[in-house]
Amino acid sequence: ETTGTTGQTWPAGLPTSLEYPSVPVGSLLRAAARRWGDRVAFTHHEVPLTYTEMARRAHAVAGGLADHGIGRGDVVAVHLPNCLQYPSVYYGVLLAGATFSPTNPLLAPGELAAQLADSGARALVTWEPVLPVVAAALGGTRVDTVVVTNAAQVADPAAAVDTAAVDGSGARVLSLAELVGGDPTDRHLDAGVDPVADLAHLAYTGGTTGVSKGVELPHRTVVTNVLQSVCWTSGSVPARDDEGDVTVEQVGDPAEFPVRLGTSSMVNLTPWFHAMGAIGYLNGQVVAGASLVVHDRFDPVAYVADAVRYRVTSIGGAPPVFVALLQVPGIAEADLTCVRGISSGAAPLPVPLIERLHTLFPNAVIGEGYGLTEVTMQATGNPTNTSGLRKPGTVGRPVFDTEISIRPLGGGDPLPTGERGEVCIRGPQVMRGYAGRPDATAESIDADGWLHTGDVGVLDADGYLAIVDRTKDMLLYKGYNVFPRELEEVLFGLPGIAGAAVVGRPDPEAGELPVAYVVRRGDDAGAALTAESVMAAVNEQVTPYKRLRDVVFVDAIPVSPAGKVLKRELSARERAAADAR
Ligand code: AMP
Repeated sequence: ETTGTTGQTWPAGLPTSLEYPSVPVGSLLRAAARRWGDRVAFTHHEVPLTYTEMARRAHAVAGGLADHGIGRGDVVAVHLPNCLQYPSVYYGVLLAGATFSPTNPLLAPGELAAQLADSGARALVTWEPVLPVVAAALGGTRVDTVVVTNAAQVADPAAAVDTAAVDGSGARVLSLAELVGGDPTDRHLDAGVDPVADLAHLAYTGGTTGVSKGVELPHRTVVTNVLQSVCWTSGSVPARDDEGDVTVEQVGDPAEFPVRLGTSSMVNLTPWFHAMGAIGYLNGQVVAGASLVVHDRFDPVAYVADAVRYRVTSIGGAPPVFVALLQVPGIAEADLTCVRGISSGAAPLPVPLIERLHTLFPNAVIGEGYGLTEVTMQATGNPTNTSGLRKPGTVGRPVFDTEISIRPLGGGDPLPTGERGEVCIRGPQVMRGYAGRPDATAESIDADGWLHTGDVGVLDADGYLAIVDRTKDMLLYKGYNVFPRELEEVLFGLPGIAGAAVVGRPDPEAGELPVAYVVRRGDDAGAALTAESVMAAVNEQVTPYKRLRDVVFVDAIPVSPAGKVLKRELSARERAAADAR
């Protein structure tokens, strides 16, 4: 099944290759501020922030960091939830010439400490409510400056901040208001940045081995992937403005593309500490001159209400967001005709879910993309223009200047079209490497520049990639590879199922048995489900070795803030139960 009227495999009007200017990330902000000036860039708790004001505040943060001796060569950890201050802090760190290293604000002290020590961060910008965790994490790190903001500073940047929890830490402690106290003029601090050599992002990810590693992304790499992503969805190509800063210029028919420069809007939930957030929903939207309504926690009812109230033109995020939206009471009656584009990434979007989204969002093109932190953010996407050829169940084609090849899981030459193997990616958005881990870097990027992702996928004759699963989620039943995702697709197609995840249950005879965790829908079909009925419905659709051996009903499937199902937690539960038997 495909969608799109003319069946173009490439977004209409776009070249296959782009020019990527070698500039610091701050260039994108300067161009956007000049171009979109009084437009509202972000609204949080009803407080709007224009492009002009965001840029002014970012320069104030940069100036404050510089005044405190923080700049080129320094890593600044940003340990914040999404908030109105985040974009100014993000660009401020980069304009100061320092490296942005985002951390998940829900990390436990040990995890935060490990990340801070590994990144060598000198400064940390954080959030008042998590200060006790920060205080417990600082020992043994190089952090000598802690900058604190809070919810009150959303509306009033000068509001007081209680820093007591970190006052005895030995680090210099400042509120964000104190940091930006200096002269907020545009000092072009990033003029000394070398876009190829200097790191813009040092982003942590479990990668394929599960050990959290720092992904090194120079300025030029970040700018490249932002442009690859925003040009793809808005039908534009990179351009320079009068000051030489980097913006985009429309070349495709704007009516065809979901993101229309200077007029798009969305409710944003995707965390900016994650690749999809920082590249797609922070930089990408800024370059496009979009207005984002910031939600700092997921309340599906409030999300739909704001989508209607602000007449948003796009929604985006990870599949669990869409799963939850489909469950919002009364959503079928909400007028969501304003939504032109739905972008999904970070995890697989089951095909039955795409069909339900089409009914609720009649005017939306649903574009699924794929990527990973190691390629900055995006490697592939379904064409998002209205006439493009989208193939549900695939993550589309490689974006501009990006190659995909499928290799045998144990290594070897590329496999022919249609065969399953490890997804390998080559392109200008591939990371420089893992910080301080030359061995891990050499294991993941081969001598020819191919990044080995640890994802299992298959290419079709049109060059569309389908992600089968991750190698680490694959389970082994009597020596056969079972890919949980295939079973999850079937489960999502059954009536009464709101969410599902399949993991392996250790078994002395078979190795691992496929077991499904299922969330019932709140309707009659959901109430009628039994383990036997679910197994019967799935098992008649799959070959015998893939059959489900048990179904466990749960209230919710655990997901990470970035929207990935936490299979680890379910697997740990299965292992603990097996140990107890
Ligand atoms: P992260 O580095 O946290 O963004 O995680 C990257 C991983 O997320 C990839 O290696 C894939 O396993 C998974 N992923 C990202 N996008 C998709 C997608 N559209 N479909 C399936 N898996 C995805």
